[in-house]
Amino acid sequence: MKARRTLLILLMSASYSAFAQQGAKPEDTEQWSPVPIKITPGKYMSTPPPSDAIVLFDGKNLDEWVSNADRDKPANWTVKGDLLTVNKAAGNIETKRMFTNYQLHIEWRIPANITGEGQARGNSGVFLASLGKGDPGYELQVVDSYENKTYVNGMAGSIYKQFAPLSNPSRKPGEWQTYDVNWLAPVFNEDGSLKTPARVTVAFNGIIVQNNTELRGPTQYIGQPSYSIKHGAAPIKLQSHGDKSEPISFRNIWIRELKN
Ligand code: MG
Repeated sequence: MKARRTLLILLMSASYSAFAQQGAKPEDTEQWSPVPIKITPGKYMSTPPPSDAIVLFDGKNLDEWVSNADRDKPANWTVKGDLLTVNKAAGNIETKRMFTNYQLHIEWRIPANITGEGQARGNSGVFLASLGKGDPGYELQVVDSYENKTYVNGMAGSIYKQFAPLSNPSRKPGEWQTYDVNWLAPVFNEDGSLKTPARVTVAFNGIIVQNNTELRGPTQYIGQPSYSIKHGAAPIKLQSHGDKSEPISFRNIWIRELKN
C-alpha cells in the first residue's frame, strides 16, 4: 500500500512537472523586488523541546529519519558534536513519521567559511510536507541571506518560488538561526479537488516572516504551482541541495502535533 501510494505520487509529480515545463523557464517565477527590509534579530535563543514534543533530532542519532530516495534505508547524514550536517552524496532525508498540522522548531547554521553566491550559497530547505523523491513538497527555503543577493522568493524564510519573507532577520554565516513553524496542511475533497489550501506561519530568529500565508500548491522550480496532488499526512524533509558550497548543519529539531 505504501509503495503504491509513493508510485502514484511520483507518476503524478513527474507528469505535472513535464507539463509545467513546456515553454516555461525557472526565471519566470523569480521575484526580485521589493527586497525585504533587513532586521537585526534579538539574542539567539534555543528553545528546548516541551514535554509533549516529539524530538526529531537531539544531537545523538537519526533514529527518527530515513532516506528520501528509499524510505527503507537509513538517513545517512553526519551526526557529530550534537549537530546534524548535510551529506550531499546521500541526498535528501525525511522523517519516518507522517504529520498533518503541527508546530515545528528547527535550528540551522550556514558554515562560517561558506562560499558561492545566490542560490548556490548554503542552500538547503525544510519541506513542510514531503510528497515523494527529490524535491516534491512545500519548501521553506534555507540559504545564506545575510549578505547574499538572490530573488526574494528564494531567500531564507521564503516559501520557495511563492512568497518572500516579510523581512530579513538573517544572521551571519557561522551563527545559529531558528525557524518556528506553524503548519496547517491542505485539505482535499474526495474527488481530489482542493477544499482548503495549506497555511503557514514562520518565525525566523523570532521574527514573523510568513504570517498565515496561504500556499498556492507544492513548490515548483519551473512553472506555476497548483494543488494537483491529493495527499494526507506526510513526512518532513530536509534538502540536500546540489550546489557546491559547504554543507550546512541542523540541531534541536522537535515537533508538536496540532489536533483540530
Ligand atoms: Mg532549498
